[in-house]
Amino acid sequence: MEMRKPTLLLVFLCTLLLTGCVQVGTGTYCLRLGMQGQGTVEPNAVLTYAEPTLVSVSAVPEPGWSFVRWDGPVADPFAPETTVFVERDTTVQAIFAEDSAVEIALPPGGMIPRPQRPGGTADIEYIMLHAISDAAANPANPYEMDRIAAIFWEYGVEAHYVIDRSGTAYQFVRDDSTARHAGRGSWAKDPRLTNNMNRYALGIEILGIGTEGEMAGVIGAQANSRISEGDRGFTDEQYAALNGLLSLLTSRYHIPADRIISHEEYDPGRKWDPGDLFEWERIRLQ
Ligand SMILES: [Zn+2]
Repeated sequence: MEMRKPTLLLVFLCTLLLTGCVQVGTGTYCLRLGMQGQGTVEPNAVLTYAEPTLVSVSAVPEPGWSFVRWDGPVADPFAPETTVFVERDTTVQAIFAEDSAVEIALPPGGMIPRPQRPGGTADIEYIMLHAISDAAANPANPYEMDRIAAIFWEYGVEAHYVIDRSGTAYQFVRDDSTARHAGRGSWAKDPRLTNNMNRYALGIEILGIGTEGEMAGVIGAQANSRISEGDRGFTDEQYAALNGLLSLLTSRYHIPADRIISHEEYDPGRKWDPGDLFEWERIRLQ
């Protein structure tokens, strides 16, 4: 029986079936690019190669959108221009997030009333990033916003914003008021900031849990061992929301990128957050 022409058939199928590559025969490789959100990807057609091939790919967001990452086997998932080594039928997606996608919600129990900053919003010079969870008490279910609110009210600590795992930002304290999130520490050899960062900073808590090592001194060994690995670190939705919130706050209060700092930097040794699992390269610093 005569063989059909597998390569031609493959090209036809790849072009026609945008749901994925169909391999017919061997020795031919298909690359398909897709996206979530709004932007353009190059190359924007399904391509076939006769042998394993290194292919350059790029992602450009539409205005009002930002590139977040690639989904698929690219060389650098966080670089908008990178490469894919096509050694099998390969699908790669660019993820774009809408800049204004952050939704700011009222927290359970309402906002927490706090004293005004002495200089009002003119005092806002820094943004401090934190991580928080209820892992000490509820290691199997550490991200209930009701519990986070209860911790704030019970312990007399709070941050201006808390970003939950699905990317909703809850505002607990007005921007023009001080929140108790920074505690003791020092920064940039500026004596005004020593043990006094709460006056000058907005605090953002991201619901998240650090590495087992980071949490060892924080939540106790038994709770630490009961945390599921998927609950450590931070979610894509949180990075998208954080980018939206940061662009809002940095433009509103004219805060430069080098004034977005971690709690750990302010109080090294005593504080760990947001920790080694927080990917700084995923927040867009102007
Ligand atoms: Zn903190």
